[in-house]
Amino acid sequence: MSDTPEAIVPPTPRRKPKPEVTTINGRPLKPATLMMGHGFDPVLSEGALKPPIFQTSTFAFENAAAGKRHFEGITGKRPGGAEGLVYSRFNGPNQEILEDRLSVWDGAEDALVFSSGMTAICVLMLAMCSAGDVIVHSGPLYAASEGFVAKVLARYGVTYVDFPAQASRAEMDAVLATAQAQAEAQGGKVALIYLESPANPTNALVDVEAMRDARDAAFTGDDHPPIAIDNTFLGPLWQKPLDHGADIVVYSLTKYVGGHSDLVAGSVSGAKKWIDPVRALRNTMGGICDPNTAWMLLRSLETVELRMTRAGENAAKVCEFLRGHPKVEGLGYLGFISDPAQQDIYDRHCSGAGSTFSVFIKGGEAEAFRFLDSLTIAKLAVSLGGTETLASLPAAMTHLSVPDERKAALGITDNLVRISVGIEDADDLIADFAQALDAV
Ligand SMILES: *Cc1c(COP(=O)(O)O)cnc(C)c1O
Repeated sequence: MSDTPEAIVPPTPRRKPKPEVTTINGRPLKPATLMMGHGFDPVLSEGALKPPIFQTSTFAFENAAAGKRHFEGITGKRPGGAEGLVYSRFNGPNQEILEDRLSVWDGAEDALVFSSGMTAICVLMLAMCSAGDVIVHSGPLYAASEGFVAKVLARYGVTYVDFPAQASRAEMDAVLATAQAQAEAQGGKVALIYLESPANPTNALVDVEAMRDARDAAFTGDDHPPIAIDNTFLGPLWQKPLDHGADIVVYSLTKYVGGHSDLVAGSVSGAKKWIDPVRALRNTMGGICDPNTAWMLLRSLETVELRMTRAGENAAKVCEFLRGHPKVEGLGYLGFISDPAQQDIYDRHCSGAGSTFSVFIKGGEAEAFRFLDSLTIAKLAVSLGGTETLASLPAAMTHLSVPDERKAALGITDNLVRISVGIEDADDLIADFAQALDAV
């Protein structure tokens, strides 16, 4: 028997990938269809129907010139990122497929995935701001986002101006003028307009179109600040902010996109012009989502439309039941808006009311506690957007550290219960809420 190198059978030549089909007879395929295969060709992975998890820290270059070309992309010598894979702090196949598929939902040119929603938000803000700059943001924001702006960026000379989510166009004009004056006094610029809509836990909607118009009126040169929006509560299904004037969309993928309460991740998407500086900082800092989490998110994206649709239908039925209940004082649900200005924003921006809402239990904290402790199907936990129904009391939990005056101004009362409805049977959920209200 010979074991000389000549006896080794040469490896099978790999087949070439086929171009991906994204239209049929000129009609673009819908996101729900593209989620099964977009950005991945089985030919490149031994015919595996699903992308394998690429558990590797680094990638072999085809040749030295290719290595140089890829590094030109990484270091920003050429914009748009690397043409090939280099090193897993920069990117990997699972993350790139995920970024391609996330871009589809928002009609974004590019997307970046992160190890958490907060990493995405912090890296975005750091990438946009220098000392002396000003961030304009709607309020309330997710508490950690608000804290990052007010407490962390403040240490690096970045200040902020905030405005209530439901602000009118005139109030937006005024806040941008204030921000411009503040930036000038500090020797900086207005670097970022950062929105969160609907706001948590009030469900107040921000008029993104009005902010786009206000921004365009206030900043006439090319050098205008981008509008970023945290779309975690209604995206990617029920609100597409890039269509309404936003430049950058941010997600906590931990919520509806992940959808099973079993992972933590985040993303930023938008035009390449805005994403490139964020990618450069992610390349430096890390914070990219790991390949296993990216793979789980690919699985989640295959059912995101199904899950969100069902959760939205369940929430509509549950809210219909809660609306007339004698122990319920009120509801903060986007399906039942009472303010005409908010209804107008909803009609222009949203295609569904979501499945996360507030219910005000008659009484105070004691009655709300009694209600929460009596629930049997709904679990007592913070977070939202999972397959299971969750309930919490913001005043005593997520918003405990918010000063009392600010809580009062935002309408975060001791009897406000926050509910994220899942995909269980709607009648079972109604029966559970009914018996818990009976126990109050
Ligand atoms: C959860 C959440 C975040 C933070 O996301 P993580 O994945 O927990 O870091 C940001 N914004 C909103 C609206 C959220 O609900």
